[in-house]
Amino acid sequence: MTAHILALDIAGNPFDWIAAQDAVLYYATGKVAWELGSKEIVFRGGYSRAGIQSKIRIKPIIAIAGSEIMARMLHAELPLGNQNHLLFKRDRYTCAYCGGRFVHKDLSRDHILPQSRGGKDTWMNCVTACRKCNQDKGDLLVEHFRSLLYVPYVPCRAEHYLLSGRNVLADQHEYLAAQLPKHSRLL
Ligand SMILES: [Zn+2]
Repeated sequence: MTAHILALDIAGNPFDWIAAQDAVLYYATGKVAWELGSKEIVFRGGYSRAGIQSKIRIKPIIAIAGSEIMARMLHAELPLGNQNHLLFKRDRYTCAYCGGRFVHKDLSRDHILPQSRGGKDTWMNCVTACRKCNQDKGDLLVEHFRSLLYVPYVPCRAEHYLLSGRNVLADQHEYLAAQLPKHSRLL
């Protein structure tokens, strides 16, 4: 299992999960402004002429200096894309129509406004539905089917990175959880 590194902008806003190897590059080029976390991951590099092996220590959370791209990203909505696991996690694996809890394979993405009527793959137009409810709803509008048991919402950045992280380390979880809004279903 390879841990991912939580990359932040210099103000501490999360902007990406990056591979440890990529974090090494930021360290090597002096772009790590500050770092957080109790654990360290040690990378061993090549040997110098004196026979000393180079070592780079990286922390699980790093703030990277000097990129305007990151600043721009901060205000953009994080896309849902076609990653159902993010949606299911947001909705706690609970069907929005019958309220049942299911495992991943028994769930599906329901478009509140059906795709056949122009509904899009956005956080606000999608909810988690069990396969049966999704099938029963078909192309119906939600008002002709059943009312939603919970409302969709766009995750904030901290939620997004908690949802999308794999093998999230305790330090990283704590950092992101501290940024969650009170209404978050991940709390
Ligand atoms: Zn259902």
